[in-house]
Amino acid sequence: MKRKAGQDRTLTRNWRPATQAVRGGTARSEYGETSEALFLTSGYCYDSAEEAAARFRGDEKGMTYSRLQNPTVEMLEQRLALMEGAEACRASASGMAAMTAALMSTLSAGDHLLAGRSLFGSCRVLVDTILPRFGIETTTVDGRDSDAFRKAMRPNTKAIFVETPANPTLDIVDIGAVADIAHDGGALLFVDNAFASPIVQRPLDLGADIVGYSATKLMDGQGRVLGGAVMGPEKWMEETYLAFTRHTGPVLSAFNAWVLLKSLETLDLRVRRACDNALKVADALEARVPRLLYPGLESHPQQALAMRQMTAGGTILALHLDGGRAQAHGLLDALRLVDISNNVGDSRSLMTHPASTTHAAVAEPVRAEMGVGEGMLRLSVGLEDADDVIDDLDQALKAVGL
Ligand SMILES: *Cc1c(COP(=O)(O)O)cnc(C)c1O
Repeated sequence: MKRKAGQDRTLTRNWRPATQAVRGGTARSEYGETSEALFLTSGYCYDSAEEAAARFRGDEKGMTYSRLQNPTVEMLEQRLALMEGAEACRASASGMAAMTAALMSTLSAGDHLLAGRSLFGSCRVLVDTILPRFGIETTTVDGRDSDAFRKAMRPNTKAIFVETPANPTLDIVDIGAVADIAHDGGALLFVDNAFASPIVQRPLDLGADIVGYSATKLMDGQGRVLGGAVMGPEKWMEETYLAFTRHTGPVLSAFNAWVLLKSLETLDLRVRRACDNALKVADALEARVPRLLYPGLESHPQQALAMRQMTAGGTILALHLDGGRAQAHGLLDALRLVDISNNVGDSRSLMTHPASTTHAAVAEPVRAEMGVGEGMLRLSVGLEDADDVIDDLDQALKAVGL
């Protein structure tokens, strides 16, 4: 595997994110292929017994086993790190593999984790149910209130974990303010950036220590593969994250890494277009829905903060209807173009009822506290003509009397 002559690390580091998304991390084989090669191999062979021994001692660089290294996966990891401005990146089998490994590798029995209360359903289960089984204390606070984080810090708080914009409530967490609180207490700030993508928000530049992704969402963005990624300082990656994942193995397959490399080439185009479409849809529907939340609209209570942290309002809208589950399900059933699906960040516009799908595993009182009511719908706006999405929602709203 070689890099182009003159294509040293300094030069590639200076490329802007849209260029990194197309070219970052590319390593060509002896055949000089244009597109990245897919190395569908679990293991590697050595020229001699001593070479094998040297690689295992760490004296010689090179691949040993695809749980540890794979050329296609490494291209993706380098590309993501360059796009994000991170020292190091590791890809994982799914977004949940990324979040679980990042937190479990950092926390031990007796440590305290503080989290924003509005989280993706499985992240909430991880915080509320799974981590406490291993002796990790966890508390959740209203992520919109930075002071609440300061008040909830304990001497043993080792990490703060937030999602912003949060799924599905679209709460915004002030990353810079919460990073200062974490650092004052000797803790690390972890940000789940799946809803924004590196095109819209760069948590590390705002003060976060670790950023995690579900690559399944905007990064693939075409509903094909699951994937995840964790990025942060080289030292943490080596001594904490890899010390855990090398032996527990939540790694990404080479095939999915190859699909994601192709997806990233169009990430900038896709995310910008989907954000433009989401703003158009939000503008058109705002007056038709009892409460519609979109971080790019003035009516979002945290619009100013959102626009300080993000380059656009994102691709997700939350609609709150007054008629409970019956009206929300009725609207979904009346859709003709938008699909009923719990996925987000797809080229297709997708809509779901979080209380009965993505957040069904979260206890009802916790859902109520988060603001996930029975009348709430989440819309992920895709790449269709925005007017067709608006027309479809218009007829579906009429069908339920709105
Ligand atoms: C989807 C999602 C996850 C989980 O990712 P998977 O790839 O489905 O495992 C985590 N956090 C957020 C914000 C998500 O939207």
